[in-house]
Amino acid sequence: MSSGLCSRAGSEEPGLRELLQPALPRPAPALLFAWYSLHARKLPWRETTDPYRIWISEIMLQQTQVKTVLHRYLEWFDTFPTIEALASASTDDVLKAWEGLGYYRRARFIHRAAQMMIADFGGRFPHRFDDMMKLPGIGRSTAGAISSFCFGTSTPVLDGNVKRVLKRWFAKPEATDKELWLLAQQVIDDSGDPATWNQLMMELGATTCSAKSAHCDDCPVNVCCDSAFQVDTSKEVRKAVPVLDVHWRIHLFTCPQKGIWLIQRPDSGIWGGLWTPPITELDDRPEEAPTHIHQLSHRRLHLYPYQSEVEPLGDGRWVPSIEGYALPTGIHRLLEKVT
Ligand code: SF4
Repeated sequence: MSSGLCSRAGSEEPGLRELLQPALPRPAPALLFAWYSLHARKLPWRETTDPYRIWISEIMLQQTQVKTVLHRYLEWFDTFPTIEALASASTDDVLKAWEGLGYYRRARFIHRAAQMMIADFGGRFPHRFDDMMKLPGIGRSTAGAISSFCFGTSTPVLDGNVKRVLKRWFAKPEATDKELWLLAQQVIDDSGDPATWNQLMMELGATTCSAKSAHCDDCPVNVCCDSAFQVDTSKEVRKAVPVLDVHWRIHLFTCPQKGIWLIQRPDSGIWGGLWTPPITELDDRPEEAPTHIHQLSHRRLHLYPYQSEVEPLGDGRWVPSIEGYALPTGIHRLLEKVT
């Protein structure tokens, strides 16, 4: 088992042997930094050290793919150019700006965090790691990323990609989070450049050493990785995510003069705080096929539209157009099919 960044000194390549000895554990970072400078994707959040921008990118990237985040990231700052603008916006406006990114709880956290920055941190993103951790939606890994990228601290990122790389690199498939945090801290402390180190570890996990495949041939740590050329992704333990099928009747109240009737969903639960037509959860699966199926991480939503002819009751409002309202993607897709 490796004890430093690259304690296996068995490479037969003279260049690498030279690098690996005697100055352990520096060589692996050198190889990794060289790899990163050649292969890193050009991403806009990598070209700034503004904590507001880095923070938004980190939250967007938590559960949304890079290609989706790319243009939404830039749009965000057109809508909310400053922390102050974000803090003073309405929740509806923030949810609208988040539309399509999913996991809307993140948008509410961002909004509350911005308000805390105004109230408690002089309108600035806090510089201290412990203060970052007080903000809603920012955990140790996200704080580690922001703190290292913006302030150069030796604070590791430990997201799913980095966990996988460390487990494979050090052949610790069963390592606990506690063990991985220790390991992540050790390797970033040895790296000499924590900001770039965090970036390259995330990049390695997102590209060369991904969950689907390990491209060990092209990997900068294959000379010292304890799992190099031995990864069998089909045998790796993955947490099974149980997906529950739910069946929802979507009550469509529409009127040429008034538009469509929408209600705002409660803050907690699926699509919290977003606007939708009234929804009833069905106990049994209807005989008809759903008009639209929308997949969430733990739920598969089967949507059955029902054109209501009566006047709607309860809290809600007629809106002439859904423009300006934050609707979930599943409802957008359904409306595209039925209207
Ligand atoms: S050598 Fe292979 S298993 Fe090891 S970190 Fe690189 S890609 Fe992953």
